[in-house]
Amino acid sequence: MVDCIFCKIANGEIPSATLYEDEEFRVILDLGPASKGHALILPKTHAANIYELSDETAGKAMILAKHMASKMTDALGCEGFNIVQNNGEIAGQTVFHFHMHLIPRYKGDKVGLTWTPGKLTDEVKDEILAKIK
Ligand code: AMP
Ligand code: ZN
Repeated sequence: MVDCIFCKIANGEIPSATLYEDEEFRVILDLGPASKGHALILPKTHAANIYELSDETAGKAMILAKHMASKMTDALGCEGFNIVQNNGEIAGQTVFHFHMHLIPRYKGDKVGLTWTPGKLTDEVKDEILAKIK
């Protein structure tokens, strides 16, 4: 897609710190890392978000995330790992080319991915089950 920065990075038009590349994906270091080693999986084909992503690319992206998590954990010595994927401005997406965040976690790091748990009421549970199941 014209003027999509992640299309340009993924396809090598803009240089990046690349950890992995194949025909369909590039994995780069995030320029504003949440922790040491924070990386992004970028498909080379443009999809703005998970809603536009093909099933095939979605499946391959998850397998790649699994492989990168193991490789990065071994290499960096982190103690845990978050995989984060934002869709839409309301959900914190700032670059509108699908990407998955690979975030290594270390004791005492300042990564904040928490929320205040609510309470699932019977009414809301029934409403959601009726709509989705
Ligand atoms: P999101 O908020 O989920 O859309 O994530 C966008 C991520 O892309 C942020 O973590 C940014 O730090 C990162 N980012 C933005 N521009 C670049 C870039 N040119 N190279 C590497 N990472 C970038
Ligand atoms: Zn793009």
